[in-house]
Amino acid sequence: MISESEALDRIWAAMSPLPAEAVPLHAALDRFITRDVLATVPIPAFDQSAMDGYALLAAESHGQVLRVTGEQPAGLDLGLHVSPGACARIFTGAPLPAGADAVIMQEDVTRDGDQIICVEPVLPGENVRRAGADLCRGQIVLRAGERLTPARVALLASQGLAQVEVPKRPRVAVLSTGDELVGPGAHPLAAGQIYNTNDLMLDAMLRRLGITECTRAHCRDDLRATIEVLDDLTRAHDVVLLSGGVSVGDHDHVKPALRQLDMAPDLWRVKVKPGKPFLFAQNDRCSVFGLPGNPVSAFVTFLLFVRPALLRLMGASQAAALPAWLPLPVAAELVNDGDRPHYLRGVVSGGRFEPSGIQQSHALMSLARANALLRLDAGQSLAAGSVADVWCIE
Ligand code: AMP
Ligand code: MG
Repeated sequence: MISESEALDRIWAAMSPLPAEAVPLHAALDRFITRDVLATVPIPAFDQSAMDGYALLAAESHGQVLRVTGEQPAGLDLGLHVSPGACARIFTGAPLPAGADAVIMQEDVTRDGDQIICVEPVLPGENVRRAGADLCRGQIVLRAGERLTPARVALLASQGLAQVEVPKRPRVAVLSTGDELVGPGAHPLAAGQIYNTNDLMLDAMLRRLGITECTRAHCRDDLRATIEVLDDLTRAHDVVLLSGGVSVGDHDHVKPALRQLDMAPDLWRVKVKPGKPFLFAQNDRCSVFGLPGNPVSAFVTFLLFVRPALLRLMGASQAAALPAWLPLPVAAELVNDGDRPHYLRGVVSGGRFEPSGIQQSHALMSLARANALLRLDAGQSLAAGSVADVWCIE
């Protein structure tokens, strides 16, 4: 059995970003940029007004009467000049006329014909946005491997870019193994059958990563059938995500099937709870992740190992692919007397973590209630109120 950090290191090293494609900016959300982008358009692009008001010399805003000699709207630069004793009507986002060093809000003047009287004085630079104050030409806008959040999509748009290069999305197959599984919608269940929950859960977890399409397949607990379906799926996909059949039971056929296909697992069994039987195998076309059948185990191992691997394929830097753990106090005493790190499912509310119910690996209800995972190291105990690392997962 290997440690979770060794498993993660080995999986990370085994993945590399897929070939890049150019996509329009509106389709780039949650994808990962392939190269650094340098600013060609500063933010702001020119000295401009931050308010609707009057552009003037701040030194002349102490109760003076000033003549309004022009009007500068947003959208075109009229090249106005403000001379001593004068001011220009100006609007938010409009270029600051030469000679002016501040803008007084229209609420702070009284206007009479083509004259204003300043009621509240302004300081030099007040209500003026200086060119490049936020972003200068030549500065790095985004670094390779960063995720395109809504704000970063806007940032690329601010540079006039209409498209961006990102790695292709991986072609992923979700394969559920198990004779007991029945698709939701079939009624009634025969004795011993259960509805397949991993299938739709994994599909949904892929969607969270921006992988909106996947192939979903089911396979009986039969060696021949497992070999056949894995052969097909590994030929047509970059990643096969299977659940169940990875343990040592007589009906667990995944490992023998992979060996038959020359894909002997690169790793199997990780020191983590839940999720011990996790498996990873690879050939030059495809990576196979074997998740334990229990839904919570599948959920946790997806987050710990599959998520970073998929994000790596999609071009994420390590910083962007790994979770942001947040130190938070726990609401009650928590003990892990086992010899593997334990990921507890719980609810973060009011800034504290509380387990969401029973913590066994089949407990889908307590998983569905949870919005966070807490990692308890092997042998670790936490007193109520002490702080531990939490991963908000919704
Ligand atoms: P296995 O890893 O195949 O031994 O399965 C472990 C447990 O997970 C068993 O109770 C299975 O019935 C259950 N299980 C396996 N696959 C699924 C699935 N796709 N949906 C729900 N439960 C599953
Ligand atoms: Mg099974």
